[in-house]
Amino acid sequence: MHNLRRRHFLKTGGASLLACAAAISTPNIVLGAVRKVVVVGGGAGGTIAAKYIKKSDSSIEVTLIESNKTYNTCFMSNEVIGGNREIKTLNHGYDGLKKRGVNVVHSTASAIDIEKNTVLTTSGDRFEYDRLVVSPGISIKMGDIDGYDSAAAQVMPHAWKAGAQTSLLRKQLLAMDDGGLVILAPPANPFRCPPGPYERVCQIAHYLKHNKPKSKILVIDAKDKFSKQELFMQGWEARYKGMIDWVPGTETGGGVTSVDSAGMVVSTDFDDFSADVANIIPPQQAGDIARLAGLSDRTGWCPVHLGTFESKIHKGIYVIGDASLANAMPKSAYAANSQAKVCATAVIASLNETEMPEPSYVNTCYSLVAPDYGISIAAVYRLSEDQSEIKSVSGGLTASNASPDTLRREVQYAYSWYDNIVADMFS
Ligand SMILES: Cc1cc2nc3c(=O)[nH]c(=O)nc-3n(C[C@H](O)[C@H](O)[C@H](O)COP(=O)(O)OP(=O)(O)OC[C@H]3O[C@@H](n4cnc5c(N)ncnc54)[C@H](O)[C@@H]3O)c2cc1C
Repeated sequence: MHNLRRRHFLKTGGASLLACAAAISTPNIVLGAVRKVVVVGGGAGGTIAAKYIKKSDSSIEVTLIESNKTYNTCFMSNEVIGGNREIKTLNHGYDGLKKRGVNVVHSTASAIDIEKNTVLTTSGDRFEYDRLVVSPGISIKMGDIDGYDSAAAQVMPHAWKAGAQTSLLRKQLLAMDDGGLVILAPPANPFRCPPGPYERVCQIAHYLKHNKPKSKILVIDAKDKFSKQELFMQGWEARYKGMIDWVPGTETGGGVTSVDSAGMVVSTDFDDFSADVANIIPPQQAGDIARLAGLSDRTGWCPVHLGTFESKIHKGIYVIGDASLANAMPKSAYAANSQAKVCATAVIASLNETEMPEPSYVNTCYSLVAPDYGISIAAVYRLSEDQSEIKSVSGGLTASNASPDTLRREVQYAYSWYDNIVADMFS
């Protein structure tokens, strides 16, 4: 029932996006004037914004500024930590976007000159824009947990940006003795990928169960409830009984407050815990460049007009993905993808002075409890009439009494979702 419903919703959402795309397919080209769009950040949001702007109106010059030549997806990185996937399968390059005519520049955007409509990079280049899209993801709030800084992250990895941190956490699990204690500390909301820490608990538990069965996992949460909680806890009971102890925020006064990385001690207001492996996931905020450019508010995230993703602070600049304050939408790759398509439509409409069609947004998050046990949550969103809210209008979760066959199929859906989203981003 759940899958039938979800397919219907996704079809509905997709149809609206196609309608948006159709409405923007005949641009008014102003002779002689080359319109320039710069996109900062070539991740889940930025690649899609760059691709769909170029695809919708090839007369627009689209430049994508991305620090790295290879993008490591965070999505599926928990499988690397659990040992079910090689990290190289997360790596993707930008040749596909270049072939589409996007000017890909590998450098770091160091400043945005709002007055001159220019992005400056660390290599000393300047890129002028008529419209700017910013999708820099998150930055980790170092120092929010006492003692947790960049040096501590080399001992107690967050692994909340995929790459070296992912490999480090995997290496530590491999080196740990059987009977060790793994501590995982998820942050308060909002943060990147709400179900991510709990999927990670499953992946680590799966590895320990089969390799170091006397070991335990202690989850010291900053909050009292989490995404897909009932389904996760059902999975923990079914597959990892007695291995996982989850402690809600109210029992510790709000989770981990300090760490001593030299002594491998993790502390709350009430207790100190000795860890063999500590995965500390600190609070987060919008990527540095967005905050430097003054696009964020006191929350550390960027307020945007929800129908277009244009910044509420600076006109002509759009913020998408994790960095944006997108109301009911979670900070996920699928949400960033959906927002990027709405944003691309809005940028084209604004440059061509055409009407912005009514947007619709989608998100699905799969989580892998075990190699044959997947769960998911899906939603379709619409803009409220007064445009002040993105509202979930339909959605669903894996049924709590789903059959083993359904749970196995969810894993296959998760893998094909991954193949599709990276193909959308990079080809
Ligand atoms: C463990 C884990 C599992 C996850 N699993 C899922 C999942 O199953 N499904 C899902 O939908 N989401 C998942 N996510 C969430 C997903 O990874 C993010 O929500 C998504 O990547 C956000 O996209 P973004 O474009 O905002 O940022 P990113 O994808 O992080 O892209 C930002 C890009 O900007 C670049 N950048 C930043 N600053 C600059 C600068 N100044 N100049 C140039 N480039 C810059 C970065 O190098 C990066 O490539 C997961 C996250 C984690 C941590």
